[in-house]
Amino acid sequence: MVEKTLAIIKPNAVRNGVAGKILAMWEEAEFSIRALKRVQLTQVQAAGFYAEHEGKPFFGGLLEFMTSGPVVLVVLEKENAILDNRTIMGATNPDNAAEGTIRKLYADSFTENAVHGSDSPTSAAREVSYFFNVFELTA
Ligand code: GDP
Repeated sequence: MVEKTLAIIKPNAVRNGVAGKILAMWEEAEFSIRALKRVQLTQVQAAGFYAEHEGKPFFGGLLEFMTSGPVVLVVLEKENAILDNRTIMGATNPDNAAEGTIRKLYADSFTENAVHGSDSPTSAAREVSYFFNVFELTA
């Protein structure tokens, strides 16, 4: 099934100047970039996005990191986009990420792990509409 998934190029990757390299990896893997914007998230926006992690020990650090600089928000589309993006991203903890994955190449730590990707159809739907409106998705 053709799916959309929400990806984020996180502040460490933008700071390190590898946003373009990461976009190229998605394009080489045949994802279509359906929408894209660079923004600096507020605390409130980041907390709402990561609401499921509220109360966890890493939550404060995650918010501090995600608001520490601009991010690039991307809507990717292809057959099985959600699972395929999780595969190309690699494991959440970069110590466990497979060779050649985005996180293996560009993560700096567990928190600063370069990219986000929706993990299910339900979260993809929520996350795409959290950041993009219908006009931004129809180009
Ligand atoms: P993801 O879907 O692979 O991004 O992983 P999660 O949704 O479980 O976690 C969201 C983000 O929080 C991750 O990408 C990491 O940046 C961070 N994170 C999750 N678990 C941990 C943890 O145990 N320690 C630290 N330092 N960061 C974590």
